[in-house]
Amino acid sequence: MKRSLKIGAVSGIGIFLHWTFLLLVAAIFGYYYVQSQSVGAAIASMGLILGVFVCVVLHELGHALTARRFGVGTRSITLYPIGGLARLQRIPSEPMKEFWIAVGGPAVNLAIAVVLALVVLVGDGMFAPTALQAPGGNTLTSLMWINLALAGFNLLPAFPMDGGRVLRALLATRQDYAQATQTAAHVGQAMAFLFGIFGLLSFNPILVFIALFVYVGAQQESQQAVYRAFTEGTPVRQAMVTRFATLDVDDTLDDAVNKLLAGTDHDFPVVQDGAVVGLLRRKQLIQALSDHDRDAPVRTVADREFFTTDPGAPLDDVFQRMNEADCSTVPVVNGTQLAGLLTLENVGELIMVSSALKTRATRAVKRADVNDDTVRRMAGEDDAAATGATQES
Ligand SMILES: [Zn+2]
Repeated sequence: MKRSLKIGAVSGIGIFLHWTFLLLVAAIFGYYYVQSQSVGAAIASMGLILGVFVCVVLHELGHALTARRFGVGTRSITLYPIGGLARLQRIPSEPMKEFWIAVGGPAVNLAIAVVLALVVLVGDGMFAPTALQAPGGNTLTSLMWINLALAGFNLLPAFPMDGGRVLRALLATRQDYAQATQTAAHVGQAMAFLFGIFGLLSFNPILVFIALFVYVGAQQESQQAVYRAFTEGTPVRQAMVTRFATLDVDDTLDDAVNKLLAGTDHDFPVVQDGAVVGLLRRKQLIQALSDHDRDAPVRTVADREFFTTDPGAPLDDVFQRMNEADCSTVPVVNGTQLAGLLTLENVGELIMVSSALKTRATRAVKRADVNDDTVRRMAGEDDAAATGATQES
Protein backbone atom coordinates (compact mmCIF):
# COMPACT_ATOMS: atom_id res chain seq x y z
CA MET A 1 0.00 0.00 0.00
CA LYS A 2 3.08 2.23 0.37
CA ARG A 3 3.23 2.96 -3.35
CA SER A 4 -0.42 3.96 -3.41
CA LEU A 5 -2.08 7.25 -2.61
CA LYS A 6 -5.39 7.31 -0.75
CA ILE A 7 -7.82 9.45 -2.71
CA GLY A 8 -11.02 8.85 -0.80
CA ALA A 9 -13.45 6.33 0.64
CA VAL A 10 -16.90 5.04 -0.34
CA SER A 11 -19.06 3.40 2.36
CA GLY A 12 -16.00 2.78 4.50
CA ILE A 13 -13.85 1.24 1.74
CA GLY A 14 -10.60 3.15 1.15
CA ILE A 15 -9.83 3.94 -2.51
CA PHE A 16 -6.14 4.07 -3.47
CA LEU A 17 -4.31 5.14 -6.60
CA HIS A 18 -1.21 3.11 -7.48
CA TRP A 19 1.62 5.33 -8.79
CA THR A 20 1.72 3.40 -12.10
CA PHE A 21 -1.76 4.81 -12.81
CA LEU A 22 0.01 8.11 -13.53
CA LEU A 23 1.88 6.33 -16.35
CA LEU A 24 -1.48 5.67 -17.99
CA VAL A 25 -2.45 9.34 -17.69
CA ALA A 26 0.90 10.34 -19.25
CA ALA A 27 0.54 7.74 -22.04
CA ILE A 28 -2.96 8.93 -22.98
CA PHE A 29 -1.90 12.57 -22.86
CA GLY A 30 1.08 11.70 -25.11
CA TYR A 31 -1.09 9.73 -27.54
CA TYR A 32 -3.56 12.58 -28.08
CA TYR A 33 -0.78 15.15 -28.27
CA VAL A 34 0.87 13.17 -31.08
CA GLN A 35 -2.52 12.68 -32.79
CA SER A 36 -3.59 16.33 -32.65
CA GLN A 37 -0.25 18.16 -32.28
CA SER A 38 -2.02 20.47 -29.83
CA VAL A 39 -1.68 20.72 -26.07
CA GLY A 40 -5.29 21.97 -25.84
CA ALA A 41 -6.71 18.80 -27.42
CA ALA A 42 -4.50 16.67 -25.18
CA ILE A 43 -5.81 18.50 -22.11
CA ALA A 44 -9.38 17.96 -23.37
CA SER A 45 -8.60 14.22 -23.28
CA MET A 46 -8.08 14.53 -19.53
CA GLY A 47 -11.87 14.80 -19.15
CA LEU A 48 -12.11 11.40 -20.77
CA ILE A 49 -9.47 9.98 -18.42
CA LEU A 50 -11.38 11.28 -15.43
CA GLY A 51 -14.48 9.57 -16.82
CA VAL A 52 -12.65 6.25 -17.29
CA PHE A 53 -11.24 6.57 -13.80
CA VAL A 54 -14.73 7.00 -12.31
CA CYS A 55 -16.00 4.00 -14.32
CA VAL A 56 -13.17 1.78 -13.02
CA VAL A 57 -13.96 2.82 -9.43
CA LEU A 58 -17.66 2.05 -10.02
CA HIS A 59 -16.65 -1.36 -11.47
CA GLU A 60 -14.71 -2.21 -8.28
CA LEU A 61 -17.55 -0.93 -6.12
CA GLY A 62 -19.78 -3.32 -8.09
CA HIS A 63 -17.63 -6.18 -6.73
CA ALA A 64 -17.33 -4.73 -3.23
CA LEU A 65 -21.02 -3.99 -2.74
CA THR A 66 -22.10 -7.38 -4.14
CA ALA A 67 -19.62 -8.98 -1.71
CA ARG A 68 -21.12 -6.98 1.14
CA ARG A 69 -24.55 -8.42 0.36
CA PHE A 70 -23.00 -11.84 1.06
CA GLY A 71 -21.41 -10.60 4.29
CA VAL A 72 -17.87 -10.30 2.86
CA GLY A 73 -16.03 -7.05 3.64
CA THR A 74 -13.57 -5.26 1.34
CA ARG A 75 -10.20 -4.07 2.66
CA SER A 76 -9.42 -1.56 -0.07
CA ILE A 77 -9.80 -0.69 -3.73
CA THR A 78 -6.58 0.11 -5.63
CA LEU A 79 -6.46 1.49 -9.16
CA TYR A 80 -3.75 0.17 -11.51
CA PRO A 81 -3.20 1.19 -15.14
CA ILE A 82 -4.95 -1.88 -16.51
CA GLY A 83 -7.83 -1.77 -14.05
CA GLY A 84 -8.76 -1.76 -10.41
CA LEU A 85 -8.44 -4.34 -7.68
CA ALA A 86 -10.91 -4.76 -4.83
CA ARG A 87 -9.22 -6.63 -1.98
CA LEU A 88 -11.91 -8.75 -0.39
CA GLN A 89 -11.39 -9.98 3.16
CA ARG A 90 -12.06 -13.49 1.97
CA ILE A 91 -13.39 -15.37 -1.03
CA PRO A 92 -16.70 -17.04 -0.13
CA SER A 93 -16.50 -20.82 -0.35
CA GLU A 94 -19.94 -21.08 -2.01
CA PRO A 95 -19.15 -20.98 -5.76
CA MET A 96 -22.33 -19.11 -6.72
CA LYS A 97 -21.55 -16.26 -4.32
CA GLU A 98 -18.13 -15.91 -5.92
CA PHE A 99 -19.82 -16.00 -9.31
CA TRP A 100 -22.08 -13.04 -8.48
CA ILE A 101 -19.26 -11.03 -6.88
CA ALA A 102 -17.13 -11.55 -10.03
CA VAL A 103 -20.01 -10.64 -12.36
CA GLY A 104 -20.84 -7.52 -10.27
CA GLY A 105 -17.95 -5.47 -11.75
CA PRO A 106 -18.46 -5.99 -15.51
CA ALA A 107 -22.23 -5.66 -14.99
CA VAL A 108 -21.66 -2.09 -13.76
CA ASN A 109 -19.71 -1.25 -16.97
CA LEU A 110 -22.45 -2.73 -19.14
CA ALA A 111 -25.06 -0.70 -17.24
CA ILE A 112 -23.01 2.50 -17.70
CA ALA A 113 -22.63 1.73 -21.43
CA VAL A 114 -26.40 1.30 -21.79
CA VAL A 115 -27.12 4.59 -19.99
CA LEU A 116 -24.52 6.42 -22.12
CA ALA A 117 -25.95 4.87 -25.30
CA LEU A 118 -29.39 6.25 -24.38
CA VAL A 119 -27.91 9.70 -23.69
CA VAL A 120 -26.05 9.65 -27.04
CA LEU A 121 -29.23 8.49 -28.81
CA VAL A 122 -31.18 11.43 -27.38
CA GLY A 123 -28.28 13.76 -28.30
CA ASP A 124 -26.38 13.69 -31.60
CA GLY A 125 -26.69 9.95 -32.20
CA MET A 126 -22.98 9.64 -33.14
CA PHE A 127 -22.04 6.08 -32.18
CA ALA A 128 -18.96 5.61 -34.39
CA PRO A 129 -15.98 4.20 -32.44
CA THR A 130 -13.81 6.72 -34.30
CA ALA A 131 -14.90 9.12 -31.52
CA LEU A 132 -12.05 7.56 -29.53
CA GLN A 133 -9.50 9.19 -31.85
CA ALA A 134 -10.89 12.71 -31.34
CA PRO A 135 -11.88 13.24 -27.74
CA GLY A 136 -13.29 16.41 -26.27
CA GLY A 137 -16.30 16.65 -28.57
CA ASN A 138 -17.49 13.04 -28.22
CA THR A 139 -16.50 12.16 -24.67
CA LEU A 140 -19.78 10.34 -23.99
CA THR A 141 -19.51 8.12 -27.09
CA SER A 142 -15.86 7.40 -26.23
CA LEU A 143 -16.82 6.50 -22.67
CA MET A 144 -19.55 4.17 -23.93
CA TRP A 145 -17.04 2.24 -26.06
CA ILE A 146 -14.49 2.19 -23.25
CA ASN A 147 -17.08 0.73 -20.85
CA LEU A 148 -17.97 -1.97 -23.38
CA ALA A 149 -14.25 -2.74 -23.74
CA LEU A 150 -13.80 -2.84 -19.94
CA ALA A 151 -16.69 -5.30 -19.58
CA GLY A 152 -15.37 -7.47 -22.44
CA PHE A 153 -11.74 -7.47 -21.27
CA ASN A 154 -12.69 -8.30 -17.69
CA LEU A 155 -14.87 -11.20 -18.79
CA LEU A 156 -11.95 -12.96 -20.55
CA PRO A 157 -11.81 -16.37 -18.83
CA ALA A 158 -8.33 -15.82 -17.34
CA PHE A 159 -7.11 -15.06 -13.81
CA PRO A 160 -6.82 -12.49 -12.39
CA MET A 161 -9.61 -11.11 -14.56
CA ASP A 162 -13.21 -11.42 -13.40
CA GLY A 163 -13.89 -13.94 -16.17
CA GLY A 164 -11.31 -16.27 -14.56
CA ARG A 165 -13.29 -16.19 -11.31
CA VAL A 166 -16.54 -16.73 -13.17
CA LEU A 167 -15.01 -19.79 -14.86
CA ARG A 168 -13.65 -21.12 -11.55
CA ALA A 169 -17.00 -20.61 -9.81
CA LEU A 170 -18.82 -22.48 -12.58
CA LEU A 171 -16.28 -25.33 -12.50
CA ALA A 172 -16.45 -25.43 -8.68
CA THR A 173 -20.15 -26.24 -8.76
CA ARG A 174 -19.23 -29.71 -10.08
CA GLN A 175 -15.63 -30.34 -8.93
CA ASP A 176 -13.66 -29.45 -5.79
CA TYR A 177 -12.38 -25.93 -5.36
CA ALA A 178 -8.64 -26.59 -5.71
CA GLN A 179 -9.19 -28.62 -8.86
CA ALA A 180 -11.50 -25.96 -10.33
CA THR A 181 -8.84 -23.34 -9.61
CA GLN A 182 -6.13 -25.44 -11.28
CA THR A 183 -8.25 -25.87 -14.40
CA ALA A 184 -9.17 -22.16 -14.54
CA ALA A 185 -5.52 -21.21 -13.92
CA HIS A 186 -4.38 -23.47 -16.80
CA VAL A 187 -6.93 -21.86 -19.13
CA GLY A 188 -5.68 -18.43 -17.99
CA GLN A 189 -2.04 -19.34 -18.55
CA ALA A 190 -2.77 -20.78 -21.99
CA MET A 191 -4.51 -17.52 -22.89
CA ALA A 192 -1.62 -15.49 -21.49
CA PHE A 193 0.71 -17.56 -23.68
CA LEU A 194 -1.38 -16.80 -26.78
CA PHE A 195 -1.54 -13.08 -25.88
CA GLY A 196 2.24 -13.09 -25.44
CA ILE A 197 2.96 -14.76 -28.79
CA PHE A 198 0.46 -12.52 -30.59
CA GLY A 199 1.87 -9.43 -28.85
CA LEU A 200 5.44 -10.32 -29.85
CA LEU A 201 4.49 -11.09 -33.47
CA SER A 202 2.51 -7.86 -33.82
CA PHE A 203 5.13 -5.80 -31.90
CA ASN A 204 2.48 -4.83 -29.36
CA PRO A 205 4.21 -4.23 -25.98
CA ILE A 206 0.90 -3.64 -24.16
CA LEU A 207 -0.31 -7.11 -25.10
CA VAL A 208 2.98 -8.65 -23.90
CA PHE A 209 2.59 -6.75 -20.62
CA ILE A 210 -0.98 -8.00 -20.17
CA ALA A 211 0.19 -11.54 -20.95
CA LEU A 212 2.80 -11.39 -18.16
CA PHE A 213 0.25 -9.92 -15.74
CA VAL A 214 -2.27 -12.68 -16.49
CA TYR A 215 0.38 -15.40 -16.25
CA VAL A 216 1.55 -14.30 -12.79
CA GLY A 217 -2.03 -13.72 -11.60
CA ALA A 218 -3.06 -17.25 -12.58
CA GLN A 219 -0.13 -18.70 -10.68
CA GLN A 220 -0.89 -16.74 -7.49
CA GLU A 221 -4.51 -17.75 -7.59
CA SER A 222 -3.73 -21.45 -7.84
CA GLN A 223 -1.30 -21.17 -4.92
CA GLN A 224 -4.01 -19.65 -2.74
CA ALA A 225 -6.37 -22.46 -3.66
CA VAL A 226 -3.72 -25.01 -2.65
CA TYR A 227 -3.46 -23.23 0.71
CA ARG A 228 -7.17 -23.47 1.18
CA ALA A 229 -7.37 -27.13 0.15
CA PHE A 230 -4.72 -28.06 2.71
CA THR A 231 -6.11 -26.07 5.61
CA GLU A 232 -9.70 -27.26 5.16
CA GLY A 233 -10.61 -30.06 7.57
CA THR A 234 -7.29 -29.85 9.44
CA PRO A 235 -7.26 -29.01 13.19
CA VAL A 236 -4.98 -26.20 14.43
CA ARG A 237 -3.09 -28.82 16.48
CA GLN A 238 -1.53 -30.25 13.29
CA ALA A 239 0.03 -26.97 12.23
CA MET A 240 0.97 -25.37 15.54
CA VAL A 241 4.53 -24.90 16.79
CA THR A 242 5.17 -26.58 20.12
CA ARG A 243 8.76 -25.46 20.65
CA PHE A 244 8.99 -21.72 21.01
CA ALA A 245 10.30 -19.06 23.38
CA THR A 246 8.04 -17.30 25.88
CA LEU A 247 8.54 -14.32 28.16
CA ASP A 248 7.56 -14.09 31.81
CA VAL A 249 5.49 -11.08 32.92
CA ASP A 250 8.46 -9.91 34.99
CA ASP A 251 11.01 -10.22 32.16
CA THR A 252 12.58 -6.99 30.92
CA LEU A 253 12.98 -5.63 27.41
CA ASP A 254 16.61 -6.73 27.64
CA ASP A 255 15.50 -10.37 28.18
CA ALA A 256 13.21 -10.04 25.18
CA VAL A 257 16.05 -8.73 22.98
CA ASN A 258 18.26 -11.67 24.05
CA LYS A 259 15.54 -14.15 23.08
CA LEU A 260 14.91 -12.37 19.79
CA LEU A 261 18.58 -12.50 18.84
CA ALA A 262 19.15 -16.05 20.11
CA GLY A 263 16.43 -17.72 18.05
CA THR A 264 14.19 -17.38 15.00
CA ASP A 265 11.00 -16.39 16.89
CA HIS A 266 9.57 -12.97 16.07
CA ASP A 267 6.58 -12.82 18.38
CA PHE A 268 6.66 -13.88 22.06
CA PRO A 269 3.71 -14.84 24.24
CA VAL A 270 3.97 -13.20 27.67
CA VAL A 271 3.08 -15.82 30.26
CA GLN A 272 1.94 -15.74 33.89
CA ASP A 273 1.50 -19.12 35.63
CA GLY A 274 1.25 -20.90 32.27
CA ALA A 275 -1.50 -18.61 30.95
CA VAL A 276 -0.93 -16.07 28.15
CA VAL A 277 -1.53 -12.51 29.30
CA GLY A 278 0.01 -10.68 26.36
CA LEU A 279 1.82 -10.95 23.04
CA LEU A 280 5.04 -9.07 22.31
CA ARG A 281 5.62 -8.68 18.58
CA ARG A 282 9.01 -7.84 17.10
CA LYS A 283 7.77 -4.49 15.79
CA GLN A 284 6.49 -3.49 19.25
CA LEU A 285 9.72 -4.63 20.89
CA ILE A 286 11.87 -2.54 18.52
CA GLN A 287 9.56 0.46 19.00
CA ALA A 288 9.64 0.00 22.79
CA LEU A 289 13.45 0.01 22.82
CA SER A 290 13.48 3.59 21.54
CA ASP A 291 10.75 4.74 23.94
CA HIS A 292 11.58 2.86 27.17
CA ASP A 293 14.54 1.87 29.36
CA ARG A 294 15.99 -1.55 28.62
CA ASP A 295 15.06 -2.77 32.10
CA ALA A 296 11.37 -1.88 31.65
CA PRO A 297 9.14 -4.95 32.17
CA VAL A 298 7.73 -6.51 28.97
CA ARG A 299 4.19 -6.48 30.41
CA THR A 300 4.07 -2.68 30.02
CA VAL A 301 4.59 -2.83 26.26
CA ALA A 302 3.11 -6.22 25.28
CA ASP A 303 -0.12 -6.28 23.31
CA ARG A 304 -3.12 -7.28 25.46
CA GLU A 305 -5.54 -7.27 22.56
CA PHE A 306 -4.98 -10.51 20.68
CA PHE A 307 -7.09 -13.51 19.87
CA THR A 308 -6.39 -17.08 20.90
CA THR A 309 -7.57 -20.40 19.52
CA ASP A 310 -7.83 -23.94 20.81
CA PRO A 311 -5.98 -26.98 19.41
CA GLY A 312 -9.14 -28.54 17.97
CA ALA A 313 -10.29 -25.41 16.07
CA PRO A 314 -10.49 -25.78 12.26
CA LEU A 315 -7.28 -24.45 10.70
CA ASP A 316 -9.01 -22.84 7.69
CA ASP A 317 -11.20 -20.66 9.95
CA VAL A 318 -8.29 -19.53 12.09
CA PHE A 319 -6.09 -19.01 9.02
CA GLN A 320 -8.79 -16.83 7.47
CA ARG A 321 -9.16 -14.84 10.66
CA MET A 322 -5.38 -14.31 10.79
CA ASN A 323 -5.46 -12.94 7.25
CA GLU A 324 -8.41 -10.68 8.02
CA ALA A 325 -6.78 -9.29 11.17
CA ASP A 326 -3.34 -9.10 9.48
CA CYS A 327 -1.95 -11.13 12.34
CA SER A 328 1.01 -13.50 11.91
CA THR A 329 1.01 -15.27 15.32
CA VAL A 330 -1.85 -16.72 17.35
CA PRO A 331 -1.41 -18.39 20.78
CA VAL A 332 -3.07 -21.82 20.96
CA VAL A 333 -4.65 -22.27 24.39
CA ASN A 334 -5.80 -25.50 26.04
CA GLY A 335 -8.21 -24.41 28.79
CA THR A 336 -6.16 -21.61 30.34
CA GLN A 337 -2.73 -23.06 29.55
CA LEU A 338 -0.61 -22.08 26.55
CA ALA A 339 -0.25 -25.19 24.36
CA GLY A 340 1.36 -23.87 21.20
CA LEU A 341 1.70 -21.08 18.68
CA LEU A 342 0.17 -20.89 15.24
CA THR A 343 2.29 -18.83 12.85
CA LEU A 344 1.70 -18.07 9.17
CA GLU A 345 5.22 -19.31 8.49
CA ASN A 346 4.49 -22.70 10.01
CA VAL A 347 1.20 -23.11 8.15
CA GLY A 348 3.19 -22.40 4.97
CA GLU A 349 5.74 -25.08 5.90
CA LEU A 350 3.01 -27.64 6.61
CA ILE A 351 1.55 -27.02 3.17
CA MET A 352 4.93 -27.31 1.43
CA VAL A 353 5.77 -30.56 3.20
CA SER A 354 2.33 -32.09 2.60
CA SER A 355 2.22 -31.17 -1.06
CA ALA A 356 5.76 -32.46 -1.69
CA LEU A 357 4.87 -35.80 -0.09
CA LYS A 358 1.62 -36.01 -2.02
CA THR A 359 3.38 -35.37 -5.33
CA ARG A 360 5.93 -38.04 -4.50
CA ALA A 361 3.27 -40.56 -3.50
CA THR A 362 1.30 -39.92 -6.67
CA ARG A 363 4.41 -40.26 -8.86
CA ALA A 364 5.53 -43.46 -7.16
CA VAL A 365 2.13 -45.01 -7.73
CA LYS A 366 2.01 -43.88 -11.34
CA ARG A 367 5.36 -45.57 -11.94
CA ALA A 368 4.20 -48.81 -10.35
CA ASP A 369 0.88 -48.52 -12.20
CA VAL A 370 -1.24 -49.46 -9.20
CA ASN A 371 -4.89 -48.57 -8.64
CA ASP A 372 -6.36 -45.40 -7.13
CA ASP A 373 -6.87 -46.81 -3.63
CA THR A 374 -3.13 -47.09 -3.17
CA VAL A 375 -2.62 -43.45 -4.16
CA ARG A 376 -5.10 -42.36 -1.55
CA ARG A 377 -3.63 -44.62 1.10
CA MET A 378 -0.05 -43.49 0.46
CA ALA A 379 -1.00 -39.81 0.39
CA GLY A 380 -2.93 -40.26 3.65
CA GLU A 381 -0.08 -42.07 5.43
CA ASP A 382 2.46 -39.54 4.25
CA ASP A 383 0.22 -36.75 5.52
CA ALA A 384 0.50 -38.12 9.03
CA ALA A 385 4.30 -38.26 8.71
CA ALA A 386 4.41 -34.68 7.43
CA THR A 387 2.36 -33.44 10.35
CA GLY A 388 4.61 -35.14 12.84
CA ALA A 389 7.68 -33.55 11.26
CA THR A 390 6.17 -30.08 11.33
CA GLN A 391 5.06 -30.32 14.92
CA GLU A 392 8.58 -31.08 16.00
CA SER A 393 10.09 -28.11 14.22
ZN1 LIG B 1 -13.48 -6.67 -11.83
